[in-house]
Amino acid sequence: MRFYSTNGEVKGVELEQAVLEGLAADGGLFMPDEIGAFPSGFLAEAPSLSFPEIALVTAKSFLGDALDEQVLRDIVEDAVNFDAPLVEVKPGIFSLELFHGPTLAFKDFGARFMARLMAHYVAQRNEELTILVATSGDTGSAVAHGFLNTPGIRVVLLYPSGKVSPLQEQQLTTMGGNISALEVQGTFDDCQTMVKEAFVDEELRSKILMSSANSINIARLVPQSFYYVYSWSRLPDRDKDLVITVPSGNFGNLTAGMIAKRMGLPVTKFVAATNINDVVPEYLKSGVFTPRPSATTISNAMDVGNPSNFYRMCELYSESPASLDQELEGYAYTDEETKECMQAVHQDTGYILDPHGAVGYLGLTEALKQHPDANGIFLETAHPAKFKEIVDDTLNIDVEVPNRLQQYMEREKQSTEIPPTLAALKESILQLLA
Ligand SMILES: *Cc1c(COP(=O)(O)O)cnc(C)c1O
Repeated sequence: MRFYSTNGEVKGVELEQAVLEGLAADGGLFMPDEIGAFPSGFLAEAPSLSFPEIALVTAKSFLGDALDEQVLRDIVEDAVNFDAPLVEVKPGIFSLELFHGPTLAFKDFGARFMARLMAHYVAQRNEELTILVATSGDTGSAVAHGFLNTPGIRVVLLYPSGKVSPLQEQQLTTMGGNISALEVQGTFDDCQTMVKEAFVDEELRSKILMSSANSINIARLVPQSFYYVYSWSRLPDRDKDLVITVPSGNFGNLTAGMIAKRMGLPVTKFVAATNINDVVPEYLKSGVFTPRPSATTISNAMDVGNPSNFYRMCELYSESPASLDQELEGYAYTDEETKECMQAVHQDTGYILDPHGAVGYLGLTEALKQHPDANGIFLETAHPAKFKEIVDDTLNIDVEVPNRLQQYMEREKQSTEIPPTLAALKESILQLLA
């Protein structure tokens, strides 16, 4: 199995190179040459398999012969060491809780798998690897946690100053060790642009081995397909239609779900739910993709104005663009609607949604109007305590902060403030490595 770039110039790349480079040299995103099907009988057997067992079969279908089976097994077993329970919030409406990992967001899945895969490749070489990560909050801490104390790997996090929650900032800036944080005087899109520019910068490319850990990295996509299969296998009635809603920003999570469907998972409809950064729902309505600067919302991990994985979604449907419209719906919600949803669900059921999950819930209830008999799953991508200020304020409660989050609040912030330019980023990176 080889990988090609969505920009079309880079082809026939091995998994190792695709994972270590992150972004292809032509600026595109890596895609697998073909998407395999699940082995026959797997879906029938899945309900009696464990999560790591399901993850391994899914990973094998995704990666084909790109990775040695024993290596893959070790990585999957080490990476998928926490559950993703399916919780029925209302009859037929299920929350797929993806926040039971070390940093309490779904990005732990991608980050843990990618870190272990990269560590495997770096151990075989004799080179230092520098991971650049632009983060709107959750990615950075999940990635940093995944790589913490990994020999041969340094992580440089870029986050937009003042645009992440206090707790997220504590998580990003107090890790220490091989993790450094840069506080960028700009937006998340600025951070992402800086990272993209750094990757194609000749001087940096010649001096250091760099990789990206954003959702553009193919290694992040692979494990994000695992829990779609797992959640389906835990539904009480799998014969019904299935609608899955994904609260989306950069659209890596949804893309992984679409790949799971391509491998054979029976999903009737996917729903892209966004906050007011709605370029994909707009595209689904108008057929025109118009990236624009992101706006700040209470679901800030989805404040993305130019979602990278959109190009992967288009690749997946390049042979039949019309079926993208049939298989995917898109809805966007304001902060006001998000808060009202959090309040209504809490009042009706006692379930505490975080703002991202609430956007997903809203999209699901909308889509289920056309599929009243379907099972509905929304992905709950973060623990409500990660957005404690908003959740407490909206619901008039004091949401409990799990211990593994609380410990970050007591540490001292260590970060360097820089302007949103490539020059500033280069200077910081070269200083760190000096
Ligand atoms: C990153 C993130 C998202 C968006 O996921 P994408 O794969 O970028 O679409 C949604 N919710 C939370 C909590 C996140 O951290």
